[in-house]
Amino acid sequence: MTTQTQQTETIESEVRGYCRSFPTTFTKAKGSIMYNKANKEYVDFFAGAGALNYGHNHPRMKKALIAHLTDNGLIHSMDMDNTVKNNFLSKFKSVILEPRNLDYRVQFCGPTGTNAVEAAIRLARKVTGRSLVMGFTNGYHGMTQGALSLTANSYYRDTSSVLQNNTGFLPYDGYMGAGVDTLEYIDKLFTDPSSGTDKPAAIILETIQGEGGINVASTEWLQGLRKLTEKHGILMIVDDIQVGCGRSGSFFSFEEAGIVPDMVLLSKSLGGCGLPLAVVLLKPELDQWKPGEYNGTFRANSLSLIAATEALSFWEDEKLAIEIASKSRKIRVALQRITIQHTSHVKMLRGEGLVFGMEFYDPKLAEKVQKHAFQNGLIIETAGSTGQVIKFLPALTIDADVLQKGLDLFKNSIDYVIKMQTTPETPATQFASRLSGVSK
Ligand SMILES: *Cc1c(COP(=O)(O)O)cnc(C)c1O
Repeated sequence: MTTQTQQTETIESEVRGYCRSFPTTFTKAKGSIMYNKANKEYVDFFAGAGALNYGHNHPRMKKALIAHLTDNGLIHSMDMDNTVKNNFLSKFKSVILEPRNLDYRVQFCGPTGTNAVEAAIRLARKVTGRSLVMGFTNGYHGMTQGALSLTANSYYRDTSSVLQNNTGFLPYDGYMGAGVDTLEYIDKLFTDPSSGTDKPAAIILETIQGEGGINVASTEWLQGLRKLTEKHGILMIVDDIQVGCGRSGSFFSFEEAGIVPDMVLLSKSLGGCGLPLAVVLLKPELDQWKPGEYNGTFRANSLSLIAATEALSFWEDEKLAIEIASKSRKIRVALQRITIQHTSHVKMLRGEGLVFGMEFYDPKLAEKVQKHAFQNGLIIETAGSTGQVIKFLPALTIDADVLQKGLDLFKNSIDYVIKMQTTPETPATQFASRLSGVSK
């Protein structure tokens, strides 16, 4: 058994995670198909938690990377002036910022998402002179000290240390149920001098909470929050690390709401094909850094920038956005049908663009469906405070037939698991259940 072998023979720390959700040894991947050692195919509806929006090994990115290596292009240069960085910056400006009328400076920070969170909250504190930074219920921002202190799930939090200092949590859109406008409460907190809550330097949020279970903030709520933060002089930081780079349907997730955050964080799919890259986009007036004041060895990594520059080509016209919209409709219809078919087990479906979450009443059932789907050759993950949500995150570039195959695999898996749940197991069904698990 693969799981057993991996657990007993590895020297890897107990902290390892995804190899437990997907217990097989992978060898390669192309587009939205991953392969294991036995050459079994898996449809990837996980996309590196949003780091592979353009799929695995995109040919144009691969070609650009190989050409750069063959040419002895720089691989590492700190953030010294170089053509690769300049090309990326000018393309990011002309393809992403200018057409959207956005005026942001680009700060390269360490290469992972949590590095962008740290840099942004550090800058917010420096610029405002205030120390409190607030996040939202069910928010996820990463695992380093500052970012972790703004991550809501108690599984990750460390209450034994000083980590929680100078952070707080606000109720996200819908947190108190459909009838309650959480903005009213938030506004009161910052208006009432006796609320006991100091005015924060910044409020950080995801417009669609990824790890928190695909909670989608409404356009009105986002617009209201923007107004509220402006009114109280609080910086608004949008963490677009998971649902940016096209995941929500447009390059930035807040475009539909028509708001302009003070800072925007990008990572995950920014590096194009899974290479690490992160940036903080900041309004020019916030750019109060002194030269080199915030540093890091692996900022603006050249290989990541090569793939990132190539990835920006996807946004030179409307083609990808149109493709996302049509795939989004297809997924929504298919998953809605499944939701209706299994209303006694599935609570609701949420999502936008190519990020969907199916919430189960029973987290154990969600886990069973996830496991069974994996045995059938579909890679999906669970999210939410108790893992009660199955998350669908296919690559934006997924082929129509692979998307359909993944949806079929999911439907077969959930139908099967729910049928087994309600039908007492007989030797025959046990055999069938074992059969579906031996294909790897
Ligand atoms: C993944 C994620 C992060 C952290 O990024 P890492 O690269 O894992 O450090 C931060 N915020 C959001 C919304 C994320 O999804």
